[in-house]
Amino acid sequence: MNMYIKLGHESIEIELPVHALYIYQDSKELLSNIVTMITEANDRQEKCIFIGKENDGKVLKDKFRKQITVIKKRIRAADFVPWIKKEYDKLPKSYNGLRIFFECSEEFLNYEDILDDLTTQPDLRIFTLCQYKITDITSSQLLDALRKHPYVFVEHLLKPNCFYSKVKYRIWLDPLTGIFNRRYFENQLSKELQRAARYEHILSILFIDIDKFKRINDEFGHQVGDHVLQDFSGILERNVRSIDVVARYGGDEFVILLPETDKVHAGKTAGRILNHIKNYDFFKNKLKVKDISISIGVAGFPEDAGGTYELIKKADKALQRAKREGGGKVHMYG
Ligand code: GH3
Ligand code: MG
Repeated sequence: MNMYIKLGHESIEIELPVHALYIYQDSKELLSNIVTMITEANDRQEKCIFIGKENDGKVLKDKFRKQITVIKKRIRAADFVPWIKKEYDKLPKSYNGLRIFFECSEEFLNYEDILDDLTTQPDLRIFTLCQYKITDITSSQLLDALRKHPYVFVEHLLKPNCFYSKVKYRIWLDPLTGIFNRRYFENQLSKELQRAARYEHILSILFIDIDKFKRINDEFGHQVGDHVLQDFSGILERNVRSIDVVARYGGDEFVILLPETDKVHAGKTAGRILNHIKNYDFFKNKLKVKDISISIGVAGFPEDAGGTYELIKKADKALQRAKREGGGKVHMYG
């Protein structure tokens, strides 16, 4: 799904991340975009919160009733986080999360204060956007910021070791790398598969494993190994679109969900990642770790499997095949 953002006379198109913080200037067109997004969020069993102009809030409230919470009054950042936490607590189990819409129009500049404040909260990683004033930002800056920080999904607010982690939330992030964990991935894949089946869409997944990773731990120690895993996660995230889901499956295994992508294109993404790793020095010349290579298995829906675990298994099988052939390569299932 695409969205248009108008900034002055410029209009830009962005690809919508699955769970995103949308900062924009208001217009009728955008309101209708929000309506679409909320409808879609409801379809995904996500509760929506709208923070913005009263008129727009009223339109949304009339339309969506209980499915949306509209915040009219100004909230200070210090109150915002506990408030989100409370909202999250109230979510029935059947919901998959919260989606938050900020509307930043000129009448609404006070929310920039919140955003500014939030940048100082270490457990929130979404708000780099606010380093720009919405009225000053150029479209390419905005685009760039959205690409780098597309997420506002509440799970993202719950970084391990922050005070929230003591509360028993469904935490979906991997503690070492900060990317999604296996549980989130499987959950998301299962939902995407249901949608894909319903609307006759396609999707692919990549199963990625670092070759001979043990060797790095053995030779240089666990900390060095950890560093590689963290660095590697960042590389994966930077090499895919914002709608793709990158997760650590466990140990040195990573998975990527590529919605609306056939196997040929998934294979191209895999090749790009492989190449990136080939030319990448994880230690900036400080350590002589040579030749970190990876292997990738690709499987696609609907041709390889219909179910979540079945599809993962097929991608894993393709990965094992790549390993048997010496590693450092991509193998497509089938
Ligand atoms: P290959 O995949 O090529 O078959 O060999 P490998 O050595 O990568 O295979 P294996 O799956 O046996 O080893 C994975 C290693 O990853 C074993 C484990 O010590 C290490 N590992 C798992 N989790 C972590 C972690 O969080 N940090 C570090 N540093 N190492 C980890
Ligand atoms: Mg390995």
